[in-house]
Amino acid sequence: MRLLLALLRAWFSGLILLWFAQTPAWAASPEVVIAVFAYQGERAAISDWSPVLSYLQKALPDYQFHLANYDAEGLRTAIAEHRVDLVITNPGYYVVMESEFGLSRIATLDEPKTSPSHAIASAVLVRADRQDLHEFSDLSGKTLAAVAPEAFGGYLLVARELLVRGINPESDLKEVRFLGLPMDHIIDAVRRGDVDAGVVRACLLEQMVGSGQIEPLEFRVLAKRTEPGFACGLSTPLYPNWPIAVTRQTDPLLAKAVARALLTMPDGENGVSWSVPADYQPVHDLYRELRIGPYASLRDMAPQVLIRRFWPWLLGLMALLLAWLVHTVRVEHLVQRRTAELQESLRARDLAEARMRVNQEQMEHVSRLSILGELSSNLAHEINQPLTTIGTYARSVLRRQAAGTLTPAAVDEACGEIANEAERAGGIVQRIRHFARKRAAVRETVDVSDMANEARRLIVGMLARPPDIRIENKAGASCLVLADGPQIEQVLLNLIKNAVDAGRDLPTERQRITVQIEVLDHRLVVRVIDQGEGLSEAEWPHLFEPFFTTKPDGLGLGLPICKTIIEAHGGRLWADLNADHIGTCFSFSLPCNELPA
Ligand code: ADP
Repeated sequence: MRLLLALLRAWFSGLILLWFAQTPAWAASPEVVIAVFAYQGERAAISDWSPVLSYLQKALPDYQFHLANYDAEGLRTAIAEHRVDLVITNPGYYVVMESEFGLSRIATLDEPKTSPSHAIASAVLVRADRQDLHEFSDLSGKTLAAVAPEAFGGYLLVARELLVRGINPESDLKEVRFLGLPMDHIIDAVRRGDVDAGVVRACLLEQMVGSGQIEPLEFRVLAKRTEPGFACGLSTPLYPNWPIAVTRQTDPLLAKAVARALLTMPDGENGVSWSVPADYQPVHDLYRELRIGPYASLRDMAPQVLIRRFWPWLLGLMALLLAWLVHTVRVEHLVQRRTAELQESLRARDLAEARMRVNQEQMEHVSRLSILGELSSNLAHEINQPLTTIGTYARSVLRRQAAGTLTPAAVDEACGEIANEAERAGGIVQRIRHFARKRAAVRETVDVSDMANEARRLIVGMLARPPDIRIENKAGASCLVLADGPQIEQVLLNLIKNAVDAGRDLPTERQRITVQIEVLDHRLVVRVIDQGEGLSEAEWPHLFEPFFTTKPDGLGLGLPICKTIIEAHGGRLWADLNADHIGTCFSFSLPCNELPA
């Protein structure tokens, strides 16, 4: 009966269209193509939308309206090729093409018993005797039937409900079977038990029960919810109704005229009219959550998709990371090994330094002993002198005693002289012992002029005919030197003794030695100047070489040891020819802390 009615309606509207087309007055009117998404086929679409077409034609006689039915793909192509002016489609395709082609809704369908923004929903039907199926979660591992994967008032709405409950329809259900239109196929499949549940548009169940196609208690709506003012059982929320939209190319005047006409359209024979455009945000939300249509790119962001897409890069990155890790571990290992090696070499260096220090101390000691050795012939003479004097006085006392001429005054004089001479000899021995003592190096504040005086005393004390040794201290107490006193004394003694040797067989005036002490450029400079023989040109380059000597009893170690001592104090030792080319000047410098004047 319904089919017959639909056929009649289609025939009638076709007739009207034919009549309009044959009327010459319309020939010049601009053509307006209304594209319709004919999801139930062309015939159903014509039957559904012809009343709207007729109404618009009547309301806007200056235009010539045509209805063009398309499936989803055809509709997209027609819009892309600018072959349509108005589009009537379901909310799902509308949001897709809104994003893709800038479609813009001008009105939303208003059907009886629904509101334009709450009109479309789905119901999941199960057999009433299935006690295991009540909630969406019960569908896990079950088979679900639906019309098509992209059906808006069907599968998509249910897919969203499953997803928000943590059930992935693609992986958590046993199977989703798409049976196509008409929806009766789904009802039959559920009835037969081929599938556990089926997705149909809301109110279909109630309509079929009303028409007697289904027993009232045969089926049940899963996860049934009720919406105020909506009589049918629903499994999903209600979404806005179909919109009519204009494209970017539609003439704005036409768009305005059509909108005005539709909003003032009286209710059709089945109560259908048009309302102001509804809010399609819920539809956008659904597409976003399902990551389809305009939001399909979100699917590309899923980890597994990213891995599948960028696996060569990821592999490269992982290889790099691995290489970096290996490199880091290797470097760490190398650093540890090098540190151990370094520590070992530092230990070896410390050991070598300690050994060197001991050797140097021994060398210095040997050098001191050598100086004493060189002076020993004079030393014997020097000590012999007071001893002879002591002997002479002692014998003279004994003689006078025997002769009976010993007076107390003579005893006093003899004893006084004996004591003086004994003290003189003792002083020489004391100084030698002090100088020859074996000792470790120290650093303390020293007065270099004291050292020079002590060295002079030692030399003078040990020589039979000591030369004239002058000490000129121009530095005064203006500068503090941190040094090992006995070592500096040893250097001075060595330089003075060399100066004495250089003038040994020369006239007395050329035996004079001057020790000058002054502060120059924040350093204490000490010069030992003699008027001696000097050095030949061939001897100069070897002056500081170990074992270089021109003396028959010399060791050639004095100057190298002096140089080592001075350099260990942060100073310098060098030799110059005197300005008048007579004699030599040996100088050394030491760091000093100048005192404020
Ligand atoms: P030694 O005194 O045992 O020879 P030194 O190292 O003290 O060892 O001196 C090395 C040589 O340098 C001396 O043998 C001498 O030829 C030369 N020399 C050192 N001081 C002087 C000086 N003041 N005048 C001339 N020659 C000197």
